[in-house]
Amino acid sequence: DLMPIRRDIVFETHRDAILVIDDQCRVIDTNRRFRETFESSISLIGSGFKDFLAENLEIPQPDFSPKNISYEFSIKTQPNLFWELLISPLDVGKNVPNGHIITIRDVTDKKEAEREILATNLRLKEQLSEIAGLQNRLREEAIRDHLTGLYNRRYLHEVLSQAIPHALRKNEVLSFALFDIDKFKKVNDTYGHDTGDEVLVSFSNFLLENIRKDDTVCRFGGEEFMVVFINAAKEDAINRVEIWQRDLVGHQLSQTAAEVKITFSCGIVSFPQDGEDMDSLFKKADVCLYQAKAAGRNRIIAA
Ligand code: GH3
Ligand code: MG
Ligand code: MG
Repeated sequence: DLMPIRRDIVFETHRDAILVIDDQCRVIDTNRRFRETFESSISLIGSGFKDFLAENLEIPQPDFSPKNISYEFSIKTQPNLFWELLISPLDVGKNVPNGHIITIRDVTDKKEAEREILATNLRLKEQLSEIAGLQNRLREEAIRDHLTGLYNRRYLHEVLSQAIPHALRKNEVLSFALFDIDKFKKVNDTYGHDTGDEVLVSFSNFLLENIRKDDTVCRFGGEEFMVVFINAAKEDAINRVEIWQRDLVGHQLSQTAAEVKITFSCGIVSFPQDGEDMDSLFKKADVCLYQAKAAGRNRIIAA
């Protein structure tokens, strides 16, 4: 009968290291891979398996309860290899097993693959956060003015496309102040373009420092700015801009040319009374601003 011989060959030539222990945990059989990998010159047959585990594999107290248990380990003499040790009871079905079959499998490749997947995941995560950072930066660059750091007109459109319907629903008033610095060309001509830039930045910061949390200030273009007052009646907006007009007199705008002073002209409109969309509101604000200029500058005209 060839069957037992074939079984022997399968056991003996199996790529896993296999050993069989009896109910006293004594080694009763080993295959070639086991002997080649874990046995020195002395055969383990008949010796205690737990001693072998503790001494050679550094697994001090293996669980021999009658269920399948697995451990992962590597040994000092072959630190590059990873092994998985599987303890399976013999005679499944009985409460107390006759013994156990111990399979020790080389899982180095699997471990390596796992490690590569982990490393790849980590790289992907890093790349994702880098992309998110770039997206944020692109977005910031798209909605902000380079010189002053204020929001630009595009962002104002975004804000208002939400703020206007919101105000309509809530029955709230929005007010808009369009500023244009008076005779700014003269600042550039007198003090130079760099000082002009410095003054624009200072004026931007001045506005930022004076608006409320929900309000928005944006650079509308060259030396024009727009402030949106959320939930503020026209009178409120006028009062606040009048205060700014006075405060600006004593405000230093340039480090290099401390004496530079500016004034502004301002047109103020409110939603919904002066227009029901951005375009009509902005046009009306521009008309008011033009009137303020025509009337001699350094003044506020409300619709
Ligand atoms: P008005 O009172 O009628 O507004 O006079 P103005 O000189 O302010 O008006 P005008 O529109 O003739 O000139 C605006 C000036 O603003 C001209 C332009 O060089 C200057 N300007 C616009 N953007 C910048 C900038 O980013 N930096 C500097 N330094 N100057 C700027
Ligand atoms: Mg202008
Ligand atoms: Mg101007």
